[in-house]
Amino acid sequence: PKLVYDFSEGNKDLKDLLGGKGANLAEMTNLGLPVPPGFTITTEACKVYLETGSEPTALRDEVSAHLDALEQRMGRKLGQADDPLLVSVRSGAKFSMPGMMDTVLNIGLSDVSVEGLAKQAGDERFAWDSYRRLIQMFGKTVLDVDGELFEDALEDAKRAKGATTDVDLGAPDLRELTEHFKEIVAKETGRDFPQDPREQMDLAVRAVFDSWNGDRAKLYRRQERIPHDLGTAVNICSMVFGNLGPDSGTGVAFTRDPASGQQGVYGDYLQNAQGEDVVAGIRNTVALADLEELDKKSYDELMQIMETLENHYRDLCDIEFTIERGKLWMLQTRVGKRTAAAAFRIATQLVDQGLIDEAEALQRVNGAQLAQLMFPRFDDGAKADQIGRGIAASPGAAVGKAVFDSYTAVKWSRSGEKVILIRRETNPDDLDGMIAAEGILTSRGGKTSHAAVVARGMGKTCVCGAEELEVDTKRRQMTAPGGIVIDEGDLISIDGSSGKVYKGEVPVVPSPVVEYFEGRMHAGAEDADELVVAVHRMMAYADRMRRLRVRANADNAEDAARARRFGAQGIGLCRTEHMFLGDRRQQVERLILADTEEEREASLKELLPLQQGDFVQLFEAMDGLPVTVRLLDPPLHEFLPDITELSVRVALAESRKDHNENDLRLLQAVHRLHEQNPMLGLRGVRLGLVIPGLFTMQVRAIAEAAADRKDAKGDPRAEIMIPLVGTVQELELVRDEAEQVIAEVEERRGVSLKLSLGTMIELPRAALTAGQIAESADFFSFGTNDLTQTVWGFSRDDVEASFFTAYLEKGIFGVSPFETIDKDGVGALVRDAVKAGKATRPDLKLGVCGEHGGDPESVHFFDEVGLDYVSCSPFRIPVARLEAARAAA
Ligand code: ADP
Ligand code: MG
Ligand code: MG
Repeated sequence: PKLVYDFSEGNKDLKDLLGGKGANLAEMTNLGLPVPPGFTITTEACKVYLETGSEPTALRDEVSAHLDALEQRMGRKLGQADDPLLVSVRSGAKFSMPGMMDTVLNIGLSDVSVEGLAKQAGDERFAWDSYRRLIQMFGKTVLDVDGELFEDALEDAKRAKGATTDVDLGAPDLRELTEHFKEIVAKETGRDFPQDPREQMDLAVRAVFDSWNGDRAKLYRRQERIPHDLGTAVNICSMVFGNLGPDSGTGVAFTRDPASGQQGVYGDYLQNAQGEDVVAGIRNTVALADLEELDKKSYDELMQIMETLENHYRDLCDIEFTIERGKLWMLQTRVGKRTAAAAFRIATQLVDQGLIDEAEALQRVNGAQLAQLMFPRFDDGAKADQIGRGIAASPGAAVGKAVFDSYTAVKWSRSGEKVILIRRETNPDDLDGMIAAEGILTSRGGKTSHAAVVARGMGKTCVCGAEELEVDTKRRQMTAPGGIVIDEGDLISIDGSSGKVYKGEVPVVPSPVVEYFEGRMHAGAEDADELVVAVHRMMAYADRMRRLRVRANADNAEDAARARRFGAQGIGLCRTEHMFLGDRRQQVERLILADTEEEREASLKELLPLQQGDFVQLFEAMDGLPVTVRLLDPPLHEFLPDITELSVRVALAESRKDHNENDLRLLQAVHRLHEQNPMLGLRGVRLGLVIPGLFTMQVRAIAEAAADRKDAKGDPRAEIMIPLVGTVQELELVRDEAEQVIAEVEERRGVSLKLSLGTMIELPRAALTAGQIAESADFFSFGTNDLTQTVWGFSRDDVEASFFTAYLEKGIFGVSPFETIDKDGVGALVRDAVKAGKATRPDLKLGVCGEHGGDPESVHFFDEVGLDYVSCSPFRIPVARLEAARAAA
């Protein structure tokens, strides 16, 4: 196969072969845009090198042929003594990847050709500046010399001259610096900086290949599930020079504002500079708009090109360009990254421009972005005193008093204080403190650090790895640059969406997007927020497009009403245990302690009207929409007092010779019900089968409530769901009893209730015998939380805080299987159970409840396996609606 492509031979769809950068350079070349000529070595060549340890034999000749052609075209040879052709060697995989090798500019310069370049350009300073840059970049990225050695030498040179920036160094200074750089290379590598231009190029190409298997790149791929065998392409691009004086420069530009989506001129420009100088912040850049004054001709051409690119890519593009003595060159473009708000706005703008249709617009945004827009945020208008910035690990805006240990966090929050837990990094011992805190701030660790993983799991705001903040837990203080000290008790604010850290309290405002979903802000209003309008329109596209229905997990009328406002099409999971808490604990206690049938029946009788009342409210809030009610699931001991507390109480009473009969009985019950592993113990359907009357009471409450709603001319659509079923026999027993109760209520109340009865599929055995279970179930609801626990043998509450960080760091998973469904394992069971269930009962209704119902990637999977609906917490509903549409589009 062909291993090298001229820029004119490729196109944007060849990213697999040419990498992102190469494919887009080719696309621009073919659009007739001014791209410096060059060629791309394919990922195929890289793959061979990685597999065999040496370049494919044909590569050298192909590169030579393309280099010859390039030299012909440019009228000079690579590194030619009197007039050198120079090139850049640029890595470029299909996905841009941290850890891949940086670009090396000015390849082809040597002790000899630097003089030629100086003569040709009529600028000695420029030539030496280019040469010292080559040695610096080559030394660091190809020869692995510590970059700081060069930085330090540059600083020394500036200091010696009393210069503030690199432009203040003249030709003699740079010549001297170059000598110094060469000495560094010789000392550090034991060989001289290579003078042969072709050798420079070949070494750089090989270094790019090698960087594919660098530790950082490998880890990144494991985490992002990018295959390890894609390989990287390498681009060889003839140099253009932005460092040829004031009529030269380099810049970056966006075709619209990547922060807001606004159309306009956005970017930065730096005169007399090369390569990364713009983003490196070595000198102050000017706004791109100012280029119009500096160089009108280039500016106009750039605007023209930006329009061409937008219309061609039908999306926001970002661009790198260089101006060499008044001539504009394009060095890179790609569809640009943008904020969540910009993504929504740009998508609808492009629909209005007729560049994309609704289905495509939906692919331009995602649920994670929508979720981000729903978090409360700090008031933009408010005065905020930023003291640092870390990694945005878990979104939200949190304000609280600084605390430096878990103990204080818990203590203070118990007394009603809001706290931010600040640690260098967190570990499992910090868990209580993390739960107690409003937000978590660490100065070490990245997106997979313990703090980040656990905070995301808890939905808690987190900024991690804010390295410029010095955390001193012993002295209970944190020091920010500029000597700003935050002591324990001082208020701080952290923004988990931007990673910014502020001193003091920054006011928090609710998200306009939530205000919109809540119905407090209208997209049709004259002065409607543009983001709200965009979200409104995208949600309309989504609802037209999706196949999956979206329900809510909600246990009370208030949540149900909110869920409806957010677009829920029913309740997929009502947990009845939540109705057994609070004041009703007493009644439940009595039920559990009942010694005789009479006592038990009496306590069930007390609970019945309470449950019935709850259901009436719920069915009313969801009138006309299905409500799936799950019968009692958790183990009974959860309704009893804590064993230690109770033992102490009983012991104390005993020492006072003051016997409390009830406490004694309670303690016995607690002991009797104590389980080593309650998650796998007496819970769910097992409870229903061993505590007579419990499930029938609940079924009766549902039936009576539905009848009440019928009497009130309502339209109740209850579905009764049995948890933790492992075999069809369990379900049959419960079903027989339930049907009797329902028939009795229907007859007595003179109504037909059309209650359906189904089961959770949340145990591997249930999934494996789904075909049998479907004989007795009107519907399945996959309980993917428990299914994940039981399939993996992970106890969620334990493992997330203990070893998941290690697993994520080792790349065993890219994301917790409790966050995104494990398609190969848990997902395979779901897929097979769907098939088996449908085979038994073609009209079987299929849904999923559990955290995965609101997770974007999981929603796509559930669409693919043909579920009818997903159910998630009310706040995730818009996300699920959007992702269901993206899955179907
Ligand atoms: P990255 O992927 O890190 O942006 P690039 O390959 O785009 O790496 O190059 C880094 C910098 O060098 C960019 O500013 C780019 O515009 C500049 N650059 C790359 N090749 C050339 C070239 N042939 N002439 C001038 N500048 C170049
Ligand atoms: Mg670039
Ligand atoms: Mg469960």
